[in-house]
This record gives sequence, structure tokens and C-alpha cells, in this order.
Amino acid sequence: YSPHHKKLKVEGVIKDFGGLRALQHVSLELGQGTILGLVGPNGSGKSTLVNVISGVYPVTEGKISFGKAEITNMPTHAIAGQGIIRTFQDPHNVGNMTVKENLLLGRHQKYRSGIVSCVLNLKSSLLEEQEMLVKVHEMMELCSLAQYSEELVENLPYGVQRMVEVARAILAEPELLLLDEPAAGLSEHEMQELSKLIRYIKSRGISVILIDHHMEFLMGLIDEVIVLDSGKMIYSGDAQGMQTNQQVIEAYLGV
Ligand code: ADP
Ligand code: MG
Repeated sequence: YSPHHKKLKVEGVIKDFGGLRALQHVSLELGQGTILGLVGPNGSGKSTLVNVISGVYPVTEGKISFGKAEITNMPTHAIAGQGIIRTFQDPHNVGNMTVKENLLLGRHQKYRSGIVSCVLNLKSSLLEEQEMLVKVHEMMELCSLAQYSEELVENLPYGVQRMVEVARAILAEPELLLLDEPAAGLSEHEMQELSKLIRYIKSRGISVILIDHHMEFLMGLIDEVIVLDSGKMIYSGDAQGMQTNQQVIEAYLGV
């Protein structure tokens, strides 16, 4: 058993919000280093699926596991501790902190379990601090964020803020990264930067669930795709097959 070969398993997940069934028996499996596209009309349950996997909402029924660990209804920080990191549809950066500080927060997430040892051992904490700064600077280069390093996030263009959010999530060194519409509101050029970044993530063996509406953007990135419609999985398979699937065309791709 290798901790680097964890599989995400979602089994028969139902999520109700009062009388509304937002997810209806959703099941999926995702192996290591795979990019799964998650598409469907607005309100079809995409964000809800990411929210139950990351522990933001409890499931109504069903089971979610990652590797050997069952993570169903675990608190969000415990799920993050298992290696599942997510971004939000609206970026959750700290606006009145600089880009560098926000990225350091992401890096700290990786070391959260090490806080006690930091307090007990100043030397190792200084080393960790240095290591964190190195990683943060590497990430800023990779994401073309270096020029904004000392700027407050709230003063930056929206596309840059989204990039900060994704960079922060990667710095937590996830094994599975959940990206909820990371390309929303990005320019063509920014979308290309984001594509490069997602390919880099994949090359590191990290699995990704990617929610997005831009078909062209998705097609160049995803290995597999799931289509949701009113909380139901209407398609699961490769991207080519999706584009010719009658049910998908009617629910989502068609006019
Ligand atoms: P998508 O991300 O595909 O646009 P969502 O997962 O956000 O869709 O929403 C799926 C359905 O669940 C929608 O009908 C939405 O109104 C509902 N929903 C999502 N979150 C909540 C919530 N916290 N409380 C009540 N209803 C919700
Ligand atoms: Mg959504």
C-alpha cells in the first residue's frame, strides 16, 4: 500500500437541502493523477458534490472514502489533513494580506499538524519557515505572481486573485485538488496560464476534480468527465463520448 496511490470513492451519495435533493445517488471513483471534469447546468449539484467531498456539508446518505480512510462527514480540516484541498467558486483569500502572506497561509496548512513541534523546537521551526519561503517563491514564479508579491490581494484584478487561490491550494501539497470554477472570469491569457498550472499539478501525480463551463478549456485538460443534471449523474466517461451523448446534448450542450 502506498500513501501516494489513494483513490477517491464516492458511493451512492445523496444530499438533501430541506425538500430539495441536490445530489441523487452519485457514485464515482478517481485514481491517482487523473483529472476529472465536472460539468452540468447551473444548479445541477457540482458545487454541492465538491462541498460534501471536502466536508463543508454532511451527506444525507452514502459513503466517501480516500485511500483507506473513510472521510464521510469528517470536519473540513480533517479532510484537508487527508490530502484533499479545495478552492471555492468565489475566492477565499484574505484580502487585506499580501499575495506572499496568503501563499504562506497555504503552506502553513501543510504544517498545521507540526505546530506543536514548532513550539518545542525553535531550530526546526526556523528551517520550516525558510523552506516555506522557498516554496512560496517557486510557486509565485510558476504562477506569474512574483510581480504582485507584496501587493494586498484585495487591490488586485479578479483573475490574479483566482490564481492566488489556486496557488495557495497547491502549496498545501494536496493529493486531491478540488477546483470549483477556477477559470470563471479569467481572460484568454489567464486561462492559458491556469491550464499550464493544472498540467503541472497533474505531472506531480496529483488528482484534480475540475468544475468548469468552458468546453475548449476542459477538453485540453481532462481525462474523464462526469455530467450532472438536477443532481443526477447523466454521463460518466471520456470527453469525446460526452460530446456525442444524446442525453448530455439535450441537458447541457444543446441550445
Ligand atoms: P452548481 O454548482 O452545479 O451550480 P449547486 O451545487 O450550487 O449547483 O446547487 C445545487 C442545488 O442545491 C441548487 O438547487 C441550489 O440552489 C441548492 N443548494 C446548494 N447549496 C445550498 C444550500 N446551502 N442550501 C440550500 N440549497 C442549496
Ligand atoms: Mg457551483
